[in-house]
Amino acid sequence: MEVSAIKKIGVIGAGQMGNGITQVAAAAGYNVVMFDISSGALDKGLGTISGSCDRLIKKSGMTEEQKQSLLQKIKTTTSMQDLADCDFVVEAATENIELKLKIFRELDEIVKKDAILTSNTSSISITKIASVTKRPELVAGMHFMNPVPLMQLVEGIRGLQTSDNTFKVTRELSEKMGKVFVESVKDMPGFIVNRILMPMINEAAYTLHEGIASVESIDQAMKLGTNQPMGPLTLADFIGLDTCLAIMNVLYEGLGDSKYRPCPLLVKYVEAGWLGRKTGRGFYNYAK
Ligand code: NAD
Repeated sequence: MEVSAIKKIGVIGAGQMGNGITQVAAAAGYNVVMFDISSGALDKGLGTISGSCDRLIKKSGMTEEQKQSLLQKIKTTTSMQDLADCDFVVEAATENIELKLKIFRELDEIVKKDAILTSNTSSISITKIASVTKRPELVAGMHFMNPVPLMQLVEGIRGLQTSDNTFKVTRELSEKMGKVFVESVKDMPGFIVNRILMPMINEAAYTLHEGIASVESIDQAMKLGTNQPMGPLTLADFIGLDTCLAIMNVLYEGLGDSKYRPCPLLVKYVEAGWLGRKTGRGFYNYAK
């Protein structure tokens, strides 16, 4: 398949990442079907896209007509069957391996046979995800960054069986969406970005857990001392602490090294439902 053959894109999950991916795909001119099991998540996702367009109208010269034509390209559904005629799918559901394997098994049955299926997983093996389908050569990793409309990078991950053409089309589609595609040549836990980023966030949680510094001091020290745009705990709250914990567990189990063990404080916060901005509380309290 050539990238020019792609007309319709399916996105699975309407959460933080799914709605952002839907937005950049529609902005690139594609018809997009956004699927989620929760109709509430679909409504919220559409609302986020509309709000993001409003900010682009104010800041980057998007017109109201462009916003309306972008929104018209998006259909939402709670039935995976509606993805059947998609040419390319990006899965961005919750970071949980059993869930993703179940989704890919179903997708493989439903979506037309020559379609490319990609996952936005932060850390789960693309080779493993591909193995539950009958088209492993048409499966790749397409890892967008948060917030999708603003962040330039797409990290591309080749599973063991990903074909050259699948990877080429994934790269070209990322570029059509205005992104820079960087290749992770090995499908290893965490790929590039999260192999480096998540241990830093986990270590920031340990720094808090061990009473070395306060939340604010840790973030300020890292912002001013290492010139990062935001501190690691602020960033963790943006990403979602459940997602951070899931990625640490994949690094810990996948690489078999105790240096990746998740910080107990991170575990405790996730147990409490303190998942970051999306639930109003994480390392910071947003519900004030
Ligand atoms: P999120 O919690 O905001 O959204 C997940 C969505 O998936 C929810 O709307 C949920 O209803 C939906 N969902 C759950 N089960 C489903 C199913 N069976 N079918 C369809 N939809 C289902 O999570 P997120 O932050 O958007 O993360 C999604 C994916 O993107 C994860 O794999 C995550 O690792 C990855 N990712 C996240 C970030 C980040 O910064 N949050 C960055 C890059 C990649």
